Amino acid sequence: MCGVIGIVSQGKKSVLPSLLKGVELLQSRGYDGTGVAVLDGKLHVMKSEGKLSNLLQKLDKSVVGSVGIAHNRWATHGEATDQNAHPHVSMDGNVAVAHNGIIDNYRSLKAMLSQEGCTFVSETDSEVIPNLIVRALRDGAPDFASAV
Ligand code: GLU
Repeated sequence: MCGVIGIVSQGKKSVLPSLLKGVELLQSRGYDGTGVAVLDGKLHVMKSEGKLSNLLQKLDKSVVGSVGIAHNRWATHGEATDQNAHPHVSMDGNVAVAHNGIIDNYRSLKAMLSQEGCTFVSETDSEVIPNLIVRALRDGAPDFASAV
C-alpha cells in the first residue's frame, strides 16, 4: 500500500502546494517515507523517511514547476530511510518514479542493470523502474509512454 499522486498544471501553476496537500490527505496510505519530484526544466526531488512533517523540515518551497509527482511510502523492500523514500530517480537523473507495490523479480532486473553499469542508491525494488525506462529509451523505444 502507498499513496501516489501526479499533477500536470495546464495553466503552468506551481504544483508543489497541491502535491503537499495530496500527500497529507494520503498519509494513512504509508508512513515510511514522503517525497515529491517537480519538473521545471530541471528535476527537483525532495524526500524524507517518515511522515510529511519530516519532508517539510527540508523542503525547498521556491520550486515552482508545473509538473510533479508525490508519494507516501509503505516499505516492502528496504528500511524507512531517506534514500529508500520515493520518488526514485534514474542514474542519469532524468526520470523520477513513484511506485506502488512490489516487483517480484527486481533482484534479477537489478543484476542485469548492474552488469550494464547501472548503480543504485536505495535498497528498494522500485529503483529499477526509472532505470529500465531509461534503458528502453536508449534501446529505441519511440517515446516515453512506450518506454514505460
Ligand atoms: N516496494 C516499494 C518500496 O518498498 C513500494 C512500496 C509502496 O507501495 O509504498 O519502496
